[in-house]
Amino acid sequence: MEKQEVIGTQDDTVACDGGSISGHPKVYLSIDIDDGYVICPYCSRCYTLSNKPEALEER
Ligand SMILES: [Zn+2]
Repeated sequence: MEKQEVIGTQDDTVACDGGSISGHPKVYLSIDIDDGYVICPYCSRCYTLSNKPEALEER
């Protein structure tokens, strides 16, 4: 697997366009409240709720 970008957010809905490296059409992703994160199906970025620090510490 490619290295995974982890991006903290305080919103439970994020917009992802892949950034400059692996750009893709902008999509809106809803973070699963139970899991505390969502993974973009296009670029595999992981968005985590930043009020859940344990999710960030896992790596
Ligand atoms: Zn993406």
